[in-house]
Amino acid sequence: MSSDSASISVTTPEHHDTIYLDNAATTPVLEEVFLEMMPYLRIHFGNPSSLHSKGYVAKRAISIARNRVASIIGASGKEIVFTSGGTESNNLAIRGAALGCRAKNPRKSHLITSTIEHESVLEPLRELEKKNGFEVTYLPVSNEGIIDIDTLKESISNSRTALVSIMLVNNEIGTIQPIKEISSIIRLTNKEILFHCDATQGVGKIPISVQDLDTDLVTISSHKINGPKGAGALYIRRGVRIDPLLLGGGQETLLRSGTENVYGIVGFGKACEIALLNLTENECKVSKLRDYIVNKIIKSIPGTRYNGSKIHRIAGNAHFTFSGVNGEALVMKLDEYGIATSTGSACSSKKQKPSHVLKAMGFSYDEITGSLRIGISAENTIQEMDRFVMTLSQVINELRKFSPIAPHL
Ligand code: PMP
Repeated sequence: MSSDSASISVTTPEHHDTIYLDNAATTPVLEEVFLEMMPYLRIHFGNPSSLHSKGYVAKRAISIARNRVASIIGASGKEIVFTSGGTESNNLAIRGAALGCRAKNPRKSHLITSTIEHESVLEPLRELEKKNGFEVTYLPVSNEGIIDIDTLKESISNSRTALVSIMLVNNEIGTIQPIKEISSIIRLTNKEILFHCDATQGVGKIPISVQDLDTDLVTISSHKINGPKGAGALYIRRGVRIDPLLLGGGQETLLRSGTENVYGIVGFGKACEIALLNLTENECKVSKLRDYIVNKIIKSIPGTRYNGSKIHRIAGNAHFTFSGVNGEALVMKLDEYGIATSTGSACSSKKQKPSHVLKAMGFSYDEITGSLRIGISAENTIQEMDRFVMTLSQVINELRKFSPIAPHL
């Protein structure tokens, strides 16, 4: 093998016994998922659009995966469009619905969302505002991160609103939005308004039924539920018409052209099947682990605030503010001890901007920068939780020695 073709080697030191507590950012691919995917790289490599047997095998695998993905939200396989992930699904839902609706009715130029959505919802909306002349209403949230229903009621326009987009579970703070209540308000106003829900952080974690939630468009991402990265889906309710983003060969019923990511889709399907099977058991296990660390941290570390809703919250999320501590320094220090955590969403922390979610919830600059997000999975253990809390307490004490605002704690 020439040096040019040598495999990529990772030089960053990594602990072998890392405690992984950043499951809202991403999750590892499960062994069963990996094994199911492998044959589609080298053996069943056919193009699903080809007429020969290799093409048919790939096409059939996609069809199985489509039904598995549909099952996790109680939909039909025909209502699932595969994409490259949550970001693309959100872009497709928002641009596709907004531009599609306005093309049919030029008065439909108003869109509604919340101030705490993921950037992959907010950015396409800002673009529609700036470049396409849409008006966007950003709903405020309470200090627990729940959207303001009264402002939603006041904002909906019977004749002008084309789309409402509200997330199911917030990626930073873990709060669950009242999606059923929101959809009933929308339906009461006008049955033609489309309702999109970014369910990226909720799918596989809490039971979801699209009939029950009464949504038209739902975003799902594979890598948040132990599937591979680069695969996702958009649920499009039967009868709902949106414009495509990508034009070309017309795959995915003309809504997403491009040769399908067959092994990614296969892995995504398997991950959905497993997540659905284990949902109740995992939710129960993870919430016990979460409550265990929350109680321990509040008791043992002074100057701690537990953020977000205590009731309307996903099991795996814990979010804290530690006074007199810099969150980034805390994440780095914990990493030195082999513990992976996060200051907020993986995407916004790269931009080095204070979190728009915490800002919308009324946090001060110091409170935002002193925040830590913990994402727990069913693969974590009680022993890991004990080691984490012990290390956290030690690291916070160290950091506070250098803090001008917390010498008394
Ligand atoms: N929406 C939410 C709520 C998310 O948490 C994420 C991922 N951080 C996305 C959308 C984007 O998903 P993906 O990484 O699959 O593009």
